[in-house]
Amino acid sequence: EALNKLIDMKGSIRVFCRVRPYLMKSRRKIREPISTGSEMIVVRSSGIRKEFNFDKVFPQEASQEEIFVEIAPLLRSALDGHHVSILAFGQTGTGKTFTMDGTNDQIGIIPRALEELFSQASLDKSSSLNFSMSMLEVYMGNLRDLLSPKPPYRAYEAATRYNLNIQTDPKGLVEIEGLTEVQIPDFGKARWWYNKGKRVRSTSWTNVNEASSRSHCLTRITVFRRGDALEANTEVSKLWMVDLGGSERLLKTGATGQTLDEGRAINLSISALGDVIAALKRKRGHVPYRNSKLTQILKDSLGDGSKVLMLVHVSPCEEDVGETICSLNFAKRAR
Ligand code: ADP
Ligand code: MG
Repeated sequence: EALNKLIDMKGSIRVFCRVRPYLMKSRRKIREPISTGSEMIVVRSSGIRKEFNFDKVFPQEASQEEIFVEIAPLLRSALDGHHVSILAFGQTGTGKTFTMDGTNDQIGIIPRALEELFSQASLDKSSSLNFSMSMLEVYMGNLRDLLSPKPPYRAYEAATRYNLNIQTDPKGLVEIEGLTEVQIPDFGKARWWYNKGKRVRSTSWTNVNEASSRSHCLTRITVFRRGDALEANTEVSKLWMVDLGGSERLLKTGATGQTLDEGRAINLSISALGDVIAALKRKRGHVPYRNSKLTQILKDSLGDGSKVLMLVHVSPCEEDVGETICSLNFAKRAR
């Protein structure tokens, strides 16, 4: 038991890195700035050479299936009662949404995870597992409920929808006041709600890419586990799957006004997340959860006994090397 706990603690924060393929094959150069090994990534550009080590590095040609194989044990952990957070991080355009959500023919982590949870649950005869789902968007420090039963909101309603309070219950579980939580009895229903959340998310934005670069999208699956028929014995664990906003330093791109504020808000919450993870790695002292909405929301799912997986995404391109190094440095701090 004690040994297991030690192993759990040791392996509780892991970092994987995924390199996006070139989107136009013709642009592939002879001398590429990025090369990878199974646990290593090297960035070379105009005289610099930087090497980073991670728990796993996925090269450009890695398939969605190969990624999911490495994710599946975390789903098992969530079913066994651990809180789990899977966080996709990186510059806009490096494949965060591709990894988390995917495309019609290259399905990503979230839809695969939903299917896998139900298939695992059907095998688990000894306990009764039930699931619920919530989806929310965090934009400039405000929260938006993506599964609200009310029709997709208009801008004038935003003030009310954007103001969900975050509380901690007596057991230390984070509760987001008023956040819609739907029961998902089977995979079909789960997928239906997930698609609904995605649709609602895109309504307030000119396009989905804009939404995903300026806000964080969080999908939460709550696992209810009953060892026996007594409701009071229900164990609750949370599985968070998070598509974080683009991590680029918007200052560099000459962003102004609103865009600059959005960039600051994203950078602030991402650096707050980095600070929390770094403090947890040190295993002592103050963990600064309160510095952003994102870390307040994830508070109970980042600490002791929970499992955190950071998926850092990088571009293969020469012109992105600066951002790539920033992202890898950020991720290195978490490891
Ligand atoms: P992000 O969410 O980080 O801004 P996207 O997931 O939208 O980036 O990816 C940008 C583009 O690159 C999309 O068209 C996406 O389909 C494509 N893409 C990203 N990663 C891969 C990959 N591993 N294989 C194929 N296409 C990818
Ligand atoms: Mg995206």
